[in-house]
Amino acid sequence: QILNQFLQLKGNIRVFCRIRPTINGEKFIHVRPVVPLDSSGILLNFAENKTKLYNFDKVFPPVSSQDEVFSEIEPVIKSALDGYNVCILAYGQTGTGKTFTMEGNEDFAGVVPRTIEALFKQAADSNHTYLFSFSMLEIYLGHLKDLLIPHSKKTSDPMPPCLSIQTDPNGGIVIDNLVAIQVSDFNHAISFISSEVNLGQLLPRIPIKLLVDLTGSERVLKTKAWGRRFEEGKAINLSLSALGDVINALQKKNSHIPYRNSKLTQVLKDSLGEDSKTLMLIHVSPKEDDLCETVCSLNFALRLR
Ligand code: ADP
Ligand code: MG
Repeated sequence: QILNQFLQLKGNIRVFCRIRPTINGEKFIHVRPVVPLDSSGILLNFAENKTKLYNFDKVFPPVSSQDEVFSEIEPVIKSALDGYNVCILAYGQTGTGKTFTMEGNEDFAGVVPRTIEALFKQAADSNHTYLFSFSMLEIYLGHLKDLLIPHSKKTSDPMPPCLSIQTDPNGGIVIDNLVAIQVSDFNHAISFISSEVNLGQLLPRIPIKLLVDLTGSERVLKTKAWGRRFEEGKAINLSLSALGDVINALQKKNSHIPYRNSKLTQVLKDSLGEDSKTLMLIHVSPKEDDLCETVCSLNFALRLR
């Protein structure tokens, strides 16, 4: 059904919203700030009698299971095998469940392992022969780091050389020297995603598809970060707003798409735009304390549709 919507309706970008359930005894003191209305609406309670309605292509209320989330994503994975570039991004404040959605845990597998499983299964069931390779990279302070090359976590040790982004003659993106390991089955592929490389901005790259766990979207200027943390936060805020600008320009069908404004949007260039399908999974917190960041994330989402 989603695939049909992609083919028939405007644009190739779909925006979903997942509301984290309350965990560790979190309680609402005044009102429940984020209320799912139906399969596509969210009501935000700002203050007494002040509300705002937000619409999405799909809303996952707090009770949604990993199964339900993946069932809405699976049709898009099918189109990856048909040759589309597919990009599935998890966006939201720290602690809202991005990594839970993307990676999941031992008991509740997330989008990444389910996607890898579905790709191998669908490829086996098809008449075509597919070759899968696996890469994983991180963008940190504007530098690209290959997560398949072992490196020391000690800051005194030299960093592995940073990767550079090149353009091929067709205007496509090539990341120089990025390790791509040919993978034969699910277990082989999944063996590369160990907790060792469970870092903030994770991009497991399967040939024609990208799965992206973005770093926390919280506004750095509002936090009390300083020094390196401040630089990190600034870089993250810049790349996330560049991502919003690119998707907004694509939706408006602008002639100029500002891919060059951040490393994130340069890396994702082939996966955002014509002939590609993008799913943005906006994550929000159910907590009253997080209301400001929730408003920021929902407003970010508004610009994408
Ligand atoms: P983020 O990656 O956005 O910082 P996490 O995925 O680490 O957030 O989630 C924060 C905490 O909330 C984790 O303990 C995670 O297991 C839990 N959590 C997030 N989403 C859910 C969910 N849908 N169901 C149960 N627990 C969740
Ligand atoms: Mg995370």
